[in-house]
Amino acid sequence: MGVNQPTALEHVLITTKVEKVVNWARASSVWPMTFGLACCAIEMMAAGASRFDFDRFGAGIFRATPRQSDLMIVAGTVTYKMAPIIRKLYDQMPEPKWVIAMGSCATAGGPFDSYHTIQGVDKVVPVDIYIPGCPPRPESLIYGFLKLQDKIMTSSLADRYKEIFEEVG
Ligand code: SF4
Repeated sequence: MGVNQPTALEHVLITTKVEKVVNWARASSVWPMTFGLACCAIEMMAAGASRFDFDRFGAGIFRATPRQSDLMIVAGTVTYKMAPIIRKLYDQMPEPKWVIAMGSCATAGGPFDSYHTIQGVDKVVPVDIYIPGCPPRPESLIYGFLKLQDKIMTSSLADRYKEIFEEVG
């Protein structure tokens, strides 16, 4: 090893610091997809408007394409007919990406315990944050988003890619 080569400990410290900066940048600049399934979407839209101003937290610019998004907020009832489309949109989002299940329909089927409704979007895509309520108010969505930011700040790139490989098989 040369004189100026970093030691193993220095390698770990540098990697950890880079990861913290990357996580901070990612948590401060999240791009949600324009995506609403039912009545909860109205509260999501309110969160993005001037009164609640989702943009204060770095997530105010909703994108109209999954390829420019890293956050899917599933706001509404997930029907069997819609499920493959949700999965397709999720697959088209680049890594790293996150999912918020907003409201009781997206988290567990809500009031629709029937043949046409999936009892939770986590049966279709992996979910990072669950927000209860029918519908949850914009403050609840903002609180859930702050929890997501905490999760992003403590995430490890190595763990994330391990999860992906396990999912792909
Ligand atoms: Fe509508 Fe309630 Fe379902 Fe939200 S949780 S989509 S408000 S029925």
